[in-house]
Amino acid sequence: MPGISKAAVMVAVNKPLEFIEYPLPTPEKGAMVVKVLCCTICGSDLHTWLGRRHGPTPAILGHEIVGEIVEMGDGVTHDSGDRPLSLGDRVTWTIMDNCGKCYYCREKGLMMKCLHLKKYGHDNCEKPPHLEGGFAEHCYINPGTCVIKIPDNVTNEEAAPANCALATVSAGWDTLDVRPFENVLIQGAGALGVYASALASHRGCHKVIVTDIAEHRLAFVKEFGATDVINTKGMQETEIVQAVQSLTGGFGVDVAMEVAGVPALIPVGLKSLRKGGRMVLHGTSFAGANFTYDASDIIWRWLQIRGVHNYDAKHLQMGVDFLSQAKHKFPFHKLATHRYPLSQINEAMKVAESGVGIRVAVLP
Ligand SMILES: [Zn+2]
Ligand SMILES: [Zn+2]
Repeated sequence: MPGISKAAVMVAVNKPLEFIEYPLPTPEKGAMVVKVLCCTICGSDLHTWLGRRHGPTPAILGHEIVGEIVEMGDGVTHDSGDRPLSLGDRVTWTIMDNCGKCYYCREKGLMMKCLHLKKYGHDNCEKPPHLEGGFAEHCYINPGTCVIKIPDNVTNEEAAPANCALATVSAGWDTLDVRPFENVLIQGAGALGVYASALASHRGCHKVIVTDIAEHRLAFVKEFGATDVINTKGMQETEIVQAVQSLTGGFGVDVAMEVAGVPALIPVGLKSLRKGGRMVLHGTSFAGANFTYDASDIIWRWLQIRGVHNYDAKHLQMGVDFLSQAKHKFPFHKLATHRYPLSQINEAMKVAESGVGIRVAVLP
């Protein structure tokens, strides 16, 4: 029926998503409406749904979205890279919509920490335009959101995780300024670890060492540039550090990244660094993620620790370019391991929660 769009709405924590129809909004100046072509389920969708972190209800979850433009508001002519946009184009966009005017946007270069930040797939959907999440037939893209046209050689399923998992680890390696010939350690071989491994390999890193406790994930990440994998199940901290050191001439890695969401891995990562090494934290982004560490080691060995939450628009562009340029090197199409139509979203969420796959794709 024209003018109506169906959405799977989270009405309460841990309850099945319910289908609700909303009127299709008319885009205001600078906004657009897209038909959702694919939305992949991110770990943070599950955290919200299961109540591990607070999210407003009712809400339309889903933020790893690819859409086809069906309506453009006045003034929409080009994407954030100045490529012309028309109806029917496939686009992705930043997970957040920032104001561009506040202290963090204008003075500190931290658009992801905008004082008036809105995040797709995270907000209450009671008020118009309602459709600001990916588990729906349509999504409303607010004015000011950085929109990026998807290159023809990148499929919907390949592009969907770009605006969360891929852009985040792009920001991580960019923040650490990872260089060719460096040795890297990636703790966790889920979607973020897989993309981080491929990016490190693409950047010309020498050793790309990935740790995890699941053999199927370690086997998978080898297809994405990992030179060495270590199954750390049952290993002591000192054994892991020694294993990493033995792969790097006894020195330790130049850079480390935590993407498993396990606070106890942070000390292991820090101890695995060479002197002057740097570490970025992505995974432990929940309250209470405490760890204990001897600060003298950070001082004496000149270590750096950076926290990176979300990303800048340039990192999404880097991610999309990477998918297009490196698709002959890495089987990005394999990341979406399961597919469900929107009508079976509740089954899709359960499969995503079970951890059997890497990414579960929700299709129209
Ligand atoms: Zn996400
Ligand atoms: Zn702002």
